[in-house]
Amino acid sequence: MRIDILTLHPAMFQGPISESILGRAREADLLEIHTHDLRSWGIGNYNQVDDEPYGGGAGMVLRIDVVVPAIEEIAKMDERKPHRIYLSARGETLKQEKVESIAQDHDRLLLLCGHYEGIDQRIVEGGWIDEEISIGDYVLTGGELPAMVLIDAVARHIPGVLGKEESAQEESFSAALDRKKEYPHYTRPDEYEGHKVPDVLLSGHHAEIEKWRKNQCS
Ligand code: SAM
Repeated sequence: MRIDILTLHPAMFQGPISESILGRAREADLLEIHTHDLRSWGIGNYNQVDDEPYGGGAGMVLRIDVVVPAIEEIAKMDERKPHRIYLSARGETLKQEKVESIAQDHDRLLLLCGHYEGIDQRIVEGGWIDEEISIGDYVLTGGELPAMVLIDAVARHIPGVLGKEESAQEESFSAALDRKKEYPHYTRPDEYEGHKVPDVLLSGHHAEIEKWRKNQCS
C-alpha cells in the first residue's frame, strides 16, 4: 500500500513511521509512505496556506486554492488513484470494521491533515475528499496524530505486515471475537505478591481455556 500524507508538519511522522512494525513494513516494501509539506503549495512570498474565516470568528482556515492543487499534484505521483481522507473531528468515528475495509478496498491513500480551524468546506463539497474520518469525540491541534493512528491501524491488516505471533485475527473488535474486547492475558511467574494466574490457564485443558476466554470477552 502507498500512503501520501499532506501536512504542515511532515517531521512529526518520522519517528512513528520508522520504528517497530511500521518501520519493518516499509523496509520490506509492504508499505510506502510519502509526506508532503503543504507549505510548498503556499501562495506568494510567504507561502501563505491559510486565511481568516468568512463570517468572522477566531482562528484561520486552510485555503482551497492551496489544498486542491496539492491534492491534485500528489494524486498524479502514482498511477493508482488515491482514496482521499480528511482527518476531521466532524468525520465518521474510526472503528475496527472501517479500518479493515480501508485496508481491503484501497491500495493507495491520501491523508489530508487539517490545522488551525480546519479546511475550507468547499474542498469536501467539491469532491476532492472521499471521506472524513475522526479518531474520537475530542479535538486535537492538527490532523497529524489522527493520521498516524489511522496508518498504524490500517497497516496491521496489510498481508505480511504482522508476523504470525502478532496476528490481527483474534484481537479486540475483530470478527473472530464477535467485535468484542479481547480476553485478558497472563504470563510467568504464575504467582506475584499473592496475585495468581487463573487456575484454568494452568490446567492444560484446551476446551476449558477456550470457554473461559470466550466468557471473558466483553
Ligand atoms: N474547528 C474544528 C472543529 O471544531 O471540529 C477543529 C479543528 S482542529 C483544532 C485542527 C485539525 O485537527 C482539524 O482540521 C483536523 O484535521 C484535526 N483534528 C482535530 N481533532 C480531530 C479528531 N478528533 N479526529 C481527526 N482529526 C482531528
